[in-house]
Amino acid sequence: MNPKDLGTKAANTWCPGCGNFAILNAIKPVLADLDEEGVVDIENVVLVSGIGCHAKIVDYVNANSFYTIHGRTIPVATGIKLANPDLTVICFAGDGDAYAEGLDHLIFAAKRNVDITAIIHDNRVYGLTTGQYTPTSPSGFVGRSTPSGLEVPPINPLEIVFASGGSFIARGYSSKLELLKEIFREAILHRGFSFVDVLQVCATFFNLYDLYNESCRPIEDHDPSDVARARERILEWDYNSDGPIPLGIFYKKEATTFGDNFAKLNPKITDLDGAIKRTLSGYI
Ligand code: SF4
Repeated sequence: MNPKDLGTKAANTWCPGCGNFAILNAIKPVLADLDEEGVVDIENVVLVSGIGCHAKIVDYVNANSFYTIHGRTIPVATGIKLANPDLTVICFAGDGDAYAEGLDHLIFAAKRNVDITAIIHDNRVYGLTTGQYTPTSPSGFVGRSTPSGLEVPPINPLEIVFASGGSFIARGYSSKLELLKEIFREAILHRGFSFVDVLQVCATFFNLYDLYNESCRPIEDHDPSDVARARERILEWDYNSDGPIPLGIFYKKEATTFGDNFAKLNPKITDLDGAIKRTLSGYI
């Protein structure tokens, strides 16, 4: 399959220079390759998005998709995966979506090890609503809701997912396309909850290209199964300083998934393969 086959006729309304283009240009070839290799059937892929500039990505990829409400990509994706474990479910969420209103869902998806992939378009600003601070905006950020500067420090979302038991934790940058593709591929192939924080520049309301081009560095000679080292690397950048900012797959482990446990604990309502039994009106 050619990645162009995954394009749609929807008019793209992202601003020129927006980092969302890179995420789109990374996910399409990855899905096309996986389909071509017979690893993932594009017919069995479901893309789930939230509310924000990022959410339009599902309009631009010719695959099954589901628009959810703000902060709720992960519970909807969890339900889809639970109902039909054969599907490959990929969530796209913004930093406001995933780290503010949807933070509890992120924590529980990591804790439960739900077998889905969460790609966070982390531009560290609410772009669609023209520039308010989010949980990953740095201290001092001046925006619509903080004209005198933000007085609180940001969260480190990787640290939160790690502490919650996440089994795949990575960070990418929208201007490092090849690395982004490698991370997306590994994330989709990982069995369990895959979390990818993408530093996606909002060219209009928080342009961090100069900082990231200077500070982002792919990690080298790193063993993602080394828990202690993974933690150290995750803590290397606090989202507040100028960096250096490590990129790559920080942590990866094999673990029982939520679907495995759900099937084991609920044999009366699941088929042998773990799917929730069908009823006359569809899935219950
Ligand atoms: Fe991209 Fe920012 Fe424009 Fe939204 S407002 S489309 S995030 S550049």
